[in-house]
Amino acid sequence: MEIIDQVRQASSIVEIASQYTTLKRRGRKWVGLCPFHTEKTPSFTVDEDKQLYHCFGCGAGGDIFSLLMERESLTFPEALKSLAERYRVPLPAQQRVRPEVLKLEEKLFKINELAVAYFRKNLHGTAEGKKALEYLRKRGLSDETVQTLKIGYAPNAWTALLDAFKAKDVPVSLLEKGGLVLPGSRPGEYRDRFRGRVIFPIFSLTGRVVAFGGRTI
Ligand SMILES: [Zn+2]
Repeated sequence: MEIIDQVRQASSIVEIASQYTTLKRRGRKWVGLCPFHTEKTPSFTVDEDKQLYHCFGCGAGGDIFSLLMERESLTFPEALKSLAERYRVPLPAQQRVRPEVLKLEEKLFKINELAVAYFRKNLHGTAEGKKALEYLRKRGLSDETVQTLKIGYAPNAWTALLDAFKAKDVPVSLLEKGGLVLPGSRPGEYRDRFRGRVIFPIFSLTGRVVAFGGRTI
């Protein structure tokens, strides 16, 4: 088994997430206030079986590694090491994290940057986006804030982002790993994750875009 899977299996995502929020069991899942955005009613869920978390409010989601990376601003190898130590999984010195894994992280950051540019172009350069911009202004967000937070817009279409990235030769598998597209109903079919939404990039403490949150208007 890969060391990454060994560590994942030995770790408890509920235990780690409980460091940042109080989780209560609800049916087969755990629910609590989201540690990634401010809210009064819990929309953050942790699926213990699948070892995944998801927030219905801000769209944050991922596994135990991304949770730790995001909250503690760790790199992937650092998160792996931290969990391995905590859950006593031996991490032999010679067993380094495969460079492919690091390359994937790097690729995802680049894709997120492209996505930021794409969402911003939609907000400022399309009729649909201009309506969203009007909405943001009415909500009291100055144009300066919109620029600073790199807020964008996802058009109300099924494959707008998918088509734009296909034209740039970005593999769909990477878009899926980055959480920008979701599998469709048929095998091999994909659709945009965000449709008709204002897009708020989520930044790591080092200022890199690690995820996106979408709000309907
Ligand atoms: Zn959230």
